[in-house]
Amino acid sequence: MRTDTAIPSTHQNRLMHTLYGWYALTREQADLGPFATSKEASDALSCHIKAYKGLNKRTPGALKAVHLHDADQCSKTNCGLCVEARIFWHSLAVATP
Ligand SMILES: [Zn+2]
Repeated sequence: MRTDTAIPSTHQNRLMHTLYGWYALTREQADLGPFATSKEASDALSCHIKAYKGLNKRTPGALKAVHLHDADQCSKTNCGLCVEARIFWHSLAVATP
């Protein structure tokens, strides 16, 4: 079933939910977010892709390396993956007596 609020399947692995809200991961200097809903993040990503189409070289597989993200080495100015990593490390610190 498709509705007007459906999120494109190509966005599914680029949207990330964190404690602070939804982020859309981009190949550019800044990720998009946080947004209150996945739909808002998806819409922002659609606009972003339209605006950046053809401007940057595509690096196939670059987004698949997200699980090896190193927040200490990250040069992004607004990074959804860094936010997620920070929340993760904070939760470990809280859980450790
Ligand atoms: Zn980062």
